[in-house]
Order: sequence, then C-alpha cells, then structure tokens
Amino acid sequence: MDQENLPPHVIIFPLPLQGPVNSMFKLAELLCLSGFHITFIVTEYIYKRLIQFTNIHSRFDQYEGFQIKTISDGLPEDHPHSGDQFMQLFDALRSKTKPLFKEMLTCGDLRHVTCIIADGIMGFTCDVANDVGIPIVYVRTVSSCCLWVFFCLPKLIESGELPFHDDDFDKLVKSVPGTEDFLRCRDLPSFCRLGDISNIYVQLYKTEGQEIARAFGLILNTFEELEGPMLDQIRSVCPNLYPIGPLHAHLKTRLGAEVGSSSEQTSSNSLWEEDKSCITWLDEQSPRSVIYVSFGSIATVTKEQLLEFWHGLVNSGVMFLWVMRPDSVAGKDWEENVPEEIKEGTKKRGYIVGWAPQEQVLAHQAVGGFWTHNGWNSTLESVYEGVPMICWPYFLDQQVNSRFVEAFWKLGLDMKDTCDRVIVEKLVRELMEVRKEEFLKRADDMAKLAKGCLSEGGSSYESLKRLVKDIESMAV
Ligand code: UDP
Repeated sequence: MDQENLPPHVIIFPLPLQGPVNSMFKLAELLCLSGFHITFIVTEYIYKRLIQFTNIHSRFDQYEGFQIKTISDGLPEDHPHSGDQFMQLFDALRSKTKPLFKEMLTCGDLRHVTCIIADGIMGFTCDVANDVGIPIVYVRTVSSCCLWVFFCLPKLIESGELPFHDDDFDKLVKSVPGTEDFLRCRDLPSFCRLGDISNIYVQLYKTEGQEIARAFGLILNTFEELEGPMLDQIRSVCPNLYPIGPLHAHLKTRLGAEVGSSSEQTSSNSLWEEDKSCITWLDEQSPRSVIYVSFGSIATVTKEQLLEFWHGLVNSGVMFLWVMRPDSVAGKDWEENVPEEIKEGTKKRGYIVGWAPQEQVLAHQAVGGFWTHNGWNSTLESVYEGVPMICWPYFLDQQVNSRFVEAFWKLGLDMKDTCDRVIVEKLVRELMEVRKEEFLKRADDMAKLAKGCLSEGGSSYESLKRLVKDIESMAV
C-alpha cells in the first residue's frame, strides 16, 4: 500500500487507571471498526494486568493495524497503584513518561501518525504532539458535569467560594453556571474540601479549561440527552466536542452484540479476575429484587464503615450482591470482627464476590438497584441499563456525579458523607421498596434515551461519525 492509501493511524494514550483504560479500549475498537490503524499505549503496570486477566490480544487480533505499545509510568515496580497514590503516579507520568513518549514518536517505529487521542489531564501529551507536529484530540473520561466544575474552579476561587468552611457544606454554590439551584459546597469535587486552595489537586484541575482548549477537540464519554446543559456550558470554552457515550454500549451496539452473548463476554477489559458465579446466583432471584453493591476499582473503606454498610444491608431485608475487592478494606483482620448474625444474614440474603462482570450484572433482570461510588463508568453503565442508584461517592468527580443523580436526573438517592447502618437500611428500602416504581420509571425513561442516542441519527452516533470524518480529513 503506498503511503497515500494508508488508513488513518491514531495513537490512543489513556490515563493509566482502570476506568479510563476500559473506556479507551472501547473507543479504540470503535475506530478499528471504521478501518483505522490504532496504536494503544498503556503503562507496563496496566499491561501486566491486562494480559493476566483479559484476552486483549486475541480480541484485537481481528483488527489489522491494531497494536499495543507499553511505556513506563515512571514509578518503581513495587509502588502501590491505589487511589491515594494518584498524585505520585501523575507526577511520575509528567516527569518520566513525557520524554519516553516523545522518543516513541520520534525515534521509534511509529510511522505516519495521523492524530493522537490522549487523556486531557495528561497535558504533557499535547506538549509532545505540538513538538512533533501531530494533531491531538483530547478525551476526558469524567462526567461533563464534573468537567464543567473543574472549568469553573478559577471562578470559584475568585468569588471567594473556595475555600469553604465546615459550616458552608450545605450552602449553594453560585459560581458554576447552570447548577445554581442544586449544587452545594459538599457536592464539589472532594479535593475542594481540603481547606487550602494551594493543594496540588486544585492546582492541577483549575487549568483544565485552558488545557482542553489547546487541543483540536474533546471527546467525552457522555450523551447529549443526559448532559446537554453541561455540554453547552463546556462549549463556551471548547466548542469542538464529540460526546460519543455511553462508550461501553456504543461498541456493543456497533458489534450488534446483546449483553450476555459471547461477543459481549469477550469485550471485558477488567484488571481483576471476574467471578461469574454471581450471574448464576442472580438467575435464581426474582426480577428487580437485588441491590448490587460495588465501589469500583479504587475506593477503600475502613472496617468500621464496612460493618455499618453490612449491618444496614442485612437489616434492610433486601437481597444483595456485593463486590468486596480483596484490597478494598483498610486494615487487617477485619473478618474476625464480623458478627455472627451478619454472617448468617448474608448467607440467607447476600452473595459476595471479589470482582464481578459488572456490565452483565447491571443488565440482569434480577437487579433493581445499584449502590455505587458513582465512578463515571459505573454511573453510565447503570443509566444505560435503567438501574436506579444509591450514591456513596468516594472522591474526585464522584461527589458531583452523585448530586446530579439525585437532584438533576432524579435517578436515585445520594447518601454522601453518611455512613450509618440506620441510614443505609432506610435508603435501601426507599430505593428498592417504597419508591421503587417511581425510580424504575425514571431510570427506564433515561435508559431509552441512552439507547436511542447510539442508533443511526442519534446524537452519539452522529458525533462519532463526525470524529471519524475529522480524523480522516487530517490524513489528507
Ligand atoms: N467493574 C467491574 N467489576 C466490578 C467493579 C467494577 O467490571 O466488580 C468495572 C465497572 O464496570 C467500571 C469500572 O470497573 O467499568 C469502574 O470504573 P468507574 O469509573 O466506575 O470507577 P473507578 O474504578 O475508576 O473508581
């Protein structure tokens, strides 16, 4: 093939965390389906987990021109990769990975690169792209509601709303246009609570607006019908948006795969081993009777929190499926403190796994609620399957997402900042029994919109088409 006839070659470089890697693989596959060549860059740490737990290579074998390249994340091999180490990872990426990325593009075997798609929080990728003269499109895998709050951080600081004090938690925020009547200080991203606006997180995220505006455009894992008002706000700073979500379902729709079919099961990018026995357990439960509990891949709880949650769940009398990652409880020997009555209650009404095939779980007819930390992927997966939520946000964007779930989309109940067995019991009952029909109806309406945006003529379908066209025009 002469150079002119080569398909576009796109480099995809996600933030090396489970959520972003997951959704960027889906984008990679969507672009492969459009005939693009893709080089997917992951850190060595992520790559090891991918080959241990997924069939990533055989899955992408079918796509000519797809390859994975690894790069160091700059951290020592034995460095923990947990959520509280995020900033260390980030610093290492900026200082150590940046020159390696440039070397890859200039001295490596990466030829005829049409465009780079990289996470917008890794601004160093744009520096490198500019240095080597390759167009860059950013992608952000957080919600647009949270991204808009990031964009407004300078305004929040200027107006004096940041930092806020303990007694301001329930005060409405004025400097985030479009959210004035429901967003409270406690709903701002978790790092806003640190009291000191010179903290590294505020410093990192307050430049998002400027940073994103440097790229050709911005891909977002969301859809117009869900986040239209926030997308319009973001467009005032960065006009060229590609909202193409929910990405996990977008790919499924293109592949024509039904949830639970074999092609669906092959598309897992999980970095933990999935325990599929929970699907057999779900098969035995009544429709919409089970609350699924998972706090994602990073969140940890103390053993005191764990016990409050556990008591609340068992006392609610509702059937539950709970993902307890082996590393999700801080401290040792917590198993010894679990009272007998809780163990008994769990045997009768619960099922616990270390890691679940979450998309399949949420699509299961037995699941009627999701108690989630509101990571954006989990939130979108729940929205897509029409499952109402109880929200227990852990950090970062999750504080914003959970407020939108309760107060803007009205798809669930936000229990942020509480950890009490009585409240857990009450909220679980409210979601799964008292207001069950109301929540299911709203969730079902939103799920229909989520499905509609992915079919021909739908908002996300058309955005992806435009993205593909724009990248093709960069190649000529
Ligand atoms: N997930 C999964 N099995 C589990 C828990 C989570 O497959 O037992 C997946 C989930 O479907 C989602 C991702 O892990 O795609 C978690 O991403 P999210 O953005 O929700 O949260 P994070 O892990 O980044 O905090």
